[in-house]
Amino acid sequence: MRSFVVLGAGLVVVTSALALFIKCHPFQEEEKIAVRGEMSLRHIAERNSVPIDALIPLLPQERRTGRVATLLGLQEPVKNLGLARDSIISAIRTAQSEGFPAVDVLRYVLWSIWLLGAGCLLLRGRRVRRIRTLWLVATLAVFGLVLGAAPNPMEAVVKFHKLLQSIPGNPVVFVVLNLVIFTLFSLIGAKMLCSWGCQLGALQETLYNIPLFKSLKRRLKLPFAASIAVRITIYLIFFALFFELLNINQGGPGSILYHHLNMFKIYEFYDLALFTLLLIPFVLVASLVVFRPFCQLICPFGLYSWLLENVAVYRVRKVRTDRCIECHQCEKACPTDAMQAMNKGERRYFLPDCWSCGSCIDACPQGALEFTSARKILRRSPLRSGSQPERRGCVT
Ligand code: SF4
Ligand code: SF4
Repeated sequence: MRSFVVLGAGLVVVTSALALFIKCHPFQEEEKIAVRGEMSLRHIAERNSVPIDALIPLLPQERRTGRVATLLGLQEPVKNLGLARDSIISAIRTAQSEGFPAVDVLRYVLWSIWLLGAGCLLLRGRRVRRIRTLWLVATLAVFGLVLGAAPNPMEAVVKFHKLLQSIPGNPVVFVVLNLVIFTLFSLIGAKMLCSWGCQLGALQETLYNIPLFKSLKRRLKLPFAASIAVRITIYLIFFALFFELLNINQGGPGSILYHHLNMFKIYEFYDLALFTLLLIPFVLVASLVVFRPFCQLICPFGLYSWLLENVAVYRVRKVRTDRCIECHQCEKACPTDAMQAMNKGERRYFLPDCWSCGSCIDACPQGALEFTSARKILRRSPLRSGSQPERRGCVT
């Protein structure tokens, strides 16, 4: 516990320092503003990395009569709206000069404190499940409803790709540090950010926790092979479109596939893409019976954090293999294939996503599982202590 607290406290300090640095760093790419007549205000906001709120006042009055009218107005090409290019550029410059919003700095700092707390809870290893349900509701309320859609892990990945393509409006310092912070969160604890801090993950899991369709939930675990195949396929299509490998779309605004799948915008209604608007009901209904469908099937950060899981310092591990009575309670409690794969011990790396939810720790009647570092397992190695040898089929 002590080493995690030290590591976590270090993370809080580093995150706060990096977030403050981003806040104070001036945006220097104002001159590369992308505005074309066929782009909608929503695309323009995305391409220039400014909040959509900064462009809403440009809409003609009749397009701002209600939420839906505004949403539709923001999707229309600006030439159809009769908006002058200069006024759009001026609004973008004003928004860019305001730089990184203070509320985003607050989010990073809160996130690191929040994840430190979640880690301590996991390390304690008792009644994690019950507290987690409330924790996720609080995450949804604070990081989603109050603090909104941005910044978020999915955009961090997309913006990093934009940087590689030199798409304007993505200051290098902001994009790199943004991804560095998210990476640090996931390196200290496996999928800690996804599992305990992500506003969209919390929404899906809160729906999943509603005690409905329990038997369906048990049967509808997404097979890892299928979920990873879908997630990688979507990423590859995004990549091919984005880097124009398919020779279609010519790098137009529609070439960023994830913009059309960005469900984080559920917290920023006006910034929703039309396809996402259609996707939302399916994902929300599916979340009642399937564990985090968006995370398992679509999110590029989910894919990235799955890779990072292999080198994360802290994760759920079977520390007392000699205690395991193979009752498989942990597998039943696990919402994914992760625990089953760990027990089978087929391989050590690239196991199915483990969300560090702690359900298996709670479920194990023998206390064989812990959220811990590999160092602790080495210290407790049965061979070193002279107790029973490790059971076949259990990996750490
Ligand atoms: S995988 Fe899920 S929890 Fe992780 S960043 Fe994406 S939406 Fe959030
Ligand atoms: S192995 Fe399964 S139950 Fe255990 S923490 Fe990971 S996802 Fe949760």
